[in-house]
Amino acid sequence: MRIVIFSLYTIYSMYKMIKAIVYQKKEITKHISNLICTLLTLSLCFEVYKIFVALFGPKLDKFFEANNNEGIRQILLQLTLFMLIMGIFLISNKIYENELEVRSMTDSLTGLFNRNAFDQLAKMKISKAERNNMKLGLAICDIDHFKRVNDSYGHSIGDKILVEFSNLIKNNLRIEDLLGRYGGEEFTILILEMEESNMILKLEEIRKEIEKNIFLINSKNININASFGGIVFNPNDMDIKKAFNIADNALYKAKELGRNKVIVQSI
Ligand code: GH3
Ligand code: MG
Ligand code: MG
Repeated sequence: MRIVIFSLYTIYSMYKMIKAIVYQKKEITKHISNLICTLLTLSLCFEVYKIFVALFGPKLDKFFEANNNEGIRQILLQLTLFMLIMGIFLISNKIYENELEVRSMTDSLTGLFNRNAFDQLAKMKISKAERNNMKLGLAICDIDHFKRVNDSYGHSIGDKILVEFSNLIKNNLRIEDLLGRYGGEEFTILILEMEESNMILKLEEIRKEIEKNIFLINSKNININASFGGIVFNPNDMDIKKAFNIADNALYKAKELGRNKVIVQSI
């Protein structure tokens, strides 16, 4: 009776686990969940077998010492070991795949989204904004006279400035806003639920933060400025490509007007 009660409880727990895994299939990879389910199903069968032996087989004190049960246990142990090794292999493979995916999406210097990832993620934000008829703020930011910084301090200090600069902008945005390194010393920002007046305020806030920040790199105090071109648009009325062109023209104007400026184009 002890064996039957214990086995029934184990079967119930395994059934619960299998059910949870099957419903979570999207999160765990298909292979891993199949493997775990097979292992659990085999163990479940073994528990059923134990109940039958305990109820209808010859009287026994210790289950594993009876008849050929020890043999079955050995086979199950071997199978478990094999599946565990396979499971570890599949999980490490998945971790490696995830790492590759993250690397292909991020810029290796700053850790920000690269151009391709920014474009992909922007599409998702845009479709959400379209559904909710929300406006989006798009901005392109370009560091002023960055070539001079490289020429004066060297490329490796230039790199460190780019990293600190990225963090500075990131810290001024919300988690749901999108920031990418579009190339070189050019960054793109996509902000959800924006109005033109707020967009100007937000970009001015970031521009001033950059202006007053002293980049302390290799015991050198370095000041830089950046120019911003932006637009607030409703994706139901304008596609992102056009919004990009308008923001780019606004950036060009900001540079023309003497740099260290924010221009948000009205539409
Ligand atoms: P402007 O105000 O007109 O934008 O002037 P600028 O000098 O910033 O623009 P320009 O396009 O002439 O030069 C961009 C510079 O950015 C040149 C390049 O050396 C530097 N740059 C681009 N990518 C990197 C990078 O990854 N690391 C470093 N250190 N410099 C970079
Ligand atoms: Mg520049
Ligand atoms: Mg540039």
